[in-house]
Amino acid sequence: MPSIVQELSGHRDLGGLRRVVKCPATATVLREGPAQDSGPGAAWLAYLCPAHTVGLDSWPGAADHPDDGTMSCGTVLDYRSLEQQLQSHADLWLTPLTGVDPAAHDGTWADVLDQADSVLLARADEAAAAGEDSPLQNMLALMDVARRAATNGDLGIAATSLAYCETLAQSL
Ligand SMILES: [Zn+2]
Repeated sequence: MPSIVQELSGHRDLGGLRRVVKCPATATVLREGPAQDSGPGAAWLAYLCPAHTVGLDSWPGAADHPDDGTMSCGTVLDYRSLEQQLQSHADLWLTPLTGVDPAAHDGTWADVLDQADSVLLARADEAAAAGEDSPLQNMLALMDVARRAATNGDLGIAATSLAYCETLAQSL
């Protein structure tokens, strides 16, 4: 018998693993994201605790299913294309954080990530000059990996690196 994750995802391969909420609780709900643009299955599945099933406006689901597994709250299984995952990162945190909008770069991710990296680097340098210990330092190494991967055409590595950055961004 297929698992609920296999059924809800339309038996697609997992595209990316994300941690979108910093929460120590165990999930009690498996949130089914909106349907994929093409073909069967949900765009993403999110594991949430009771507190985070309300008020998580950035991850609007199509349905909530009970979950008695052991996944941590905030774990997201992303089944979208790499381009769609990168756009999601831009929408949810990268553009708000850096002001760099993919629409202004014709969706050329190498340029987007190059610009975003420059903005974060300048901000970290300012913090260092002011004698502050900026948490941005932790993100810069991963942004650099994402930037170079996108330049080499490897959007998978870029998306994985951004997923780590997304989690770090919750501490900023
Ligand atoms: Zn939670």
